[in-house]
Amino acid sequence: MSGIRPTGFLHLGNYFGAVRNYVRMQESYTCYFMVADLHALTTLTETRELKNHVRRVLAENIASGLDPEKVALYCQSHVPETAELYLLLNMLAYKGELEKTPTFKEKVRLHPNNVNMGLLTYPVLQAADILLQRATLVPVGKDQEQHLEMARNYAGRFNQRYGEVFPEPYAFNFGESLIKVPSLDGAGKMSKSENQMATLYLADDDETIRNKIKKAKTDSGAPGGDMPESVANLFLLLELVCSQDVVDKFRADYQAGTVRYGDMKKELAEGMVAFISPIREKAEQIRNDDSYLRKVMEEGAAKARANAAATLQLAKEAMGLNYFAKI
Ligand code: ADP
Repeated sequence: MSGIRPTGFLHLGNYFGAVRNYVRMQESYTCYFMVADLHALTTLTETRELKNHVRRVLAENIASGLDPEKVALYCQSHVPETAELYLLLNMLAYKGELEKTPTFKEKVRLHPNNVNMGLLTYPVLQAADILLQRATLVPVGKDQEQHLEMARNYAGRFNQRYGEVFPEPYAFNFGESLIKVPSLDGAGKMSKSENQMATLYLADDDETIRNKIKKAKTDSGAPGGDMPESVANLFLLLELVCSQDVVDKFRADYQAGTVRYGDMKKELAEGMVAFISPIREKAEQIRNDDSYLRKVMEEGAAKARANAAATLQLAKEAMGLNYFAKI
């Protein structure tokens, strides 16, 4: 189970941190993937663009290879059981703990005039999404590690207090360590809302991709010395989309002190264009297909709600909220 907020255009970080794993998981697991529109409301005060973003996230997921026939692909707000489990889990979530979450502190810094309870209880809602499907594996990027730990805590507390209902969920990335796709300005991660010139979006056209990479930061490190972070980031991106031969050649050049960043960026740009353009084109087609998107959302919600209802029943029975049963 996993989700992506519809707060903007999907980028390479979303793809390599999340969607790529979704696509691989659909072959061998029962999967629930959602557009986290309720999560988006924790920071969005203006919702006019929400509809477009929701459709975009769905289309880009499908264009990246996700098959709605194989998985439940749905919108969070179409599964009202989420809100009910969220309320129940809130009884197990402590205020002090939530206030200490680094992502909460960061959001307070970014949105000082909108520190709402949704923002504070974001990890509880996220735990509700995951536990509602009784999911064990959660394909996410490295930035989500701590939220997963909180979801495990809530599952553990519930089970201890009321009896075993929820398996413990873990972040998942096919045996490799969790990935953080760096931004092109050498600082932080690519993200939907931060510096747009430093983030490569799945919707970027070829010229935009080339331009952004051309402007990427490259500090010149001394040959043989420690590699500056901005250069290490370029190598990381190169490894994601170029062949091993190309990566090896530039690594050898770097070691020898003869690397030409201009050439390296050109290779990287062409690799990115070859990677992004087919996804972009396919997503554009899907985004304009109203009846198909509607069918995807309806069928996805039906699958997610069936499993969610079964979970809620188990949870309520464990909590003693079933007043019709004979004792
Ligand atoms: P964003 O941070 O861009 O708003 P979300 O919070 O909606 O993205 O996260 C969606 C998924 O994408 C999560 O699994 C998250 O871990 C992953 N993700 C986001 N940015 C990156 C990144 N730069 N590198 C790796 N994974 C990322």
